[in-house]
Amino acid sequence: MPTPWNTQMESPLRAEEAQTLLGFLQSSEALLSGHFRLTSGLHSPNYLQCARLLMDPVRAEWCGQWLGKLVAEIQARWVLSPALGGLIIGHELARALGVPHLFAERKEGIMSIRRGFRVPPGEPFIAVEDVVTTGGSVQEAARVAQEQGGVLAGVCSIFNRSGKGNPFGEEVPYFSLLRMDFPTYGEAECPLCKSGLAIDTPGSRKN
Ligand code: ZN
Repeated sequence: MPTPWNTQMESPLRAEEAQTLLGFLQSSEALLSGHFRLTSGLHSPNYLQCARLLMDPVRAEWCGQWLGKLVAEIQARWVLSPALGGLIIGHELARALGVPHLFAERKEGIMSIRRGFRVPPGEPFIAVEDVVTTGGSVQEAARVAQEQGGVLAGVCSIFNRSGKGNPFGEEVPYFSLLRMDFPTYGEAECPLCKSGLAIDTPGSRKN
């Protein structure tokens, strides 16, 4: 898969669909090149701003449809996402699967399921996020639904940026449309710092 970015990529999609997704990333300016300070504190020449990809309902629906095909085999009857990142793709995945979408949200830092939402006891649900890096939020959301009696059938995301094939362990099926491993550097060894390129902390600009 030819890419204009210095990034390792891997996808279960056919070449044509993978190219469509890369085209979306490029046209939406969701994948930025430059010099970025990530949430982790590491520096990277790339940054993914998934909200820009999903701001177009056509692109969001496309992602939901293809994710739906990937996860159809686990036969989830509910979709659960952590707000805010998982809301749009959760909605579109639920549309593709023909099942309801519930979301979890943080209240005073604690992930909780409110608004009368509930995965009924014994029913399989899939947890979805836009981008999985550590997978922390989606795991916390899934745990709350599991405590209510829901059965976690799998986890999925549009992008896997975890650096692993499955950051959730062998026992939880995990699906993503595209795995992207960006180069990252500690500040001391960052070649971009050495080259004198100004650093950008995403969240303060361009989003
Ligand atoms: Zn740097």
